[in-house]
Amino acid sequence: MTATLLTVGDELLIGQVVNTNAAWIGEQLATHGLQAVRSVVVGDDLAGVADEVRRALRTTDVVVVTGGLGPTHDDVTKQAVAEALGVKLRFHEYILDDIRAKFEKRGRTMAAANRVQAEVPEGFEPLTNAVGTAPGLWFAGPWEGVAGERVIVLLPGVPYEMQTLMRDIVLPRLVELQGEAAVVQKTLHTAGIGESDLAEKLGDLTGWLSDRIKLAFLPSYGVVRLRLTAFGDTRAEALGRLGEFEAYVRDILGDLVFGEGDETLASVLGAMLVERGLTLATAESCTGGRLADAITDVPGSSVYFSGGVVVYGNPTKEALLEVGADALRAHGAVSEPVARQMAEGVRQRLGASIGVSATGIAGPGGGTRDKPVGTVWLGYADEAGSHTVRLQLPGDRQLNKRLSVTAALNLVRRQLLQRDELVGA
Ligand code: ATP
Ligand code: MG
Repeated sequence: MTATLLTVGDELLIGQVVNTNAAWIGEQLATHGLQAVRSVVVGDDLAGVADEVRRALRTTDVVVVTGGLGPTHDDVTKQAVAEALGVKLRFHEYILDDIRAKFEKRGRTMAAANRVQAEVPEGFEPLTNAVGTAPGLWFAGPWEGVAGERVIVLLPGVPYEMQTLMRDIVLPRLVELQGEAAVVQKTLHTAGIGESDLAEKLGDLTGWLSDRIKLAFLPSYGVVRLRLTAFGDTRAEALGRLGEFEAYVRDILGDLVFGEGDETLASVLGAMLVERGLTLATAESCTGGRLADAITDVPGSSVYFSGGVVVYGNPTKEALLEVGADALRAHGAVSEPVARQMAEGVRQRLGASIGVSATGIAGPGGGTRDKPVGTVWLGYADEAGSHTVRLQLPGDRQLNKRLSVTAALNLVRRQLLQRDELVGA
């Protein structure tokens, strides 16, 4: 089934409230196998909402609306929907009794304005709102000669109330109506390769891609996520199709794929360290602690993360990590020998199995002809020796810092994979 999502409210249009409802509902519809095809933000405007509802009914099976169910004059959703369907609003005493009881339970008196919350467009069923006052509203039926049934769901704007109604009532109903037909998705995460190189590596996919299989590229700070979607007449069919496509993609990309779903580079690296009984220490200059921050975002990281130091100034590099004054003088702080000595130094000082370091020119100033802004050296050291990588990053200060973190985590991951090969050989 296809769905349109309408999020209503002037506050969303002017950026006063971030539209988290759209993101949350979009994700829920997708994970429940429904296909959201349009998401629209509409102001608190009766005619505007009515127009969008009509348009949504013409083009999709399901319309989910959030916001504007409250008791104030700017809450116009119900009138707009009633107008779009050509029905009247009807007042129900039992709904008002229910709302009044909720107020009394909290020791408050219901305002007269709440009366409108007991008005329901004809043909709609109220959905009990266990955590707020305004009930959700549900309609399933024919509309103006379009083929098949249409579903309209009206939900409160307050995220917690909306989510509770969706989870408890709306999603189970939609899944049942949807029947066998299914959409399934999987997200694979890659690092160490750009979006266009990734596309080139995957080659010509026209034999795979169709209206039954889709692939989307989602780049973000050095990680490119690949979202694979498959459609089927049954869930099993869709899953089978998705599995085949995933196997094909993984086969081509090999260990460029570091994880899937909710996994992050730091969480995957953490699991690899645990599995191998290794510990990690960080020495950061240009990333200013963000590498340690990313590592410690993972619950349980104390098992494998010994700790890290931010050695921003040269004297600190010398004092804390025994980086040689000679190397700093001869090559500068952003150099291969310094990155190497930082990684070796932090490994030794913190007694970790592995040391990783980052030193670079994040910008906007500080670049030279030989070392332009975006020059970053990463170092890796373990008991077998050390290894360095030079990056030339394209971004501004913030982006360069983030890209350096991704690259450093990926460097350690790749070195661990290489160790495995050496041990295996
Ligand atoms: P109420 O009975 O509280 O008036 P309502 O259904 O009328 O509920 P709105 O008035 O539209 O809902 O929104 C109430 C609050 O919920 C907003 O002030 C805002 O903080 C939050 N909200 C509304 N829509 C969204 C949205 N799309 N994403 C995130 N938050 C939202
Ligand atoms: Mg409101």
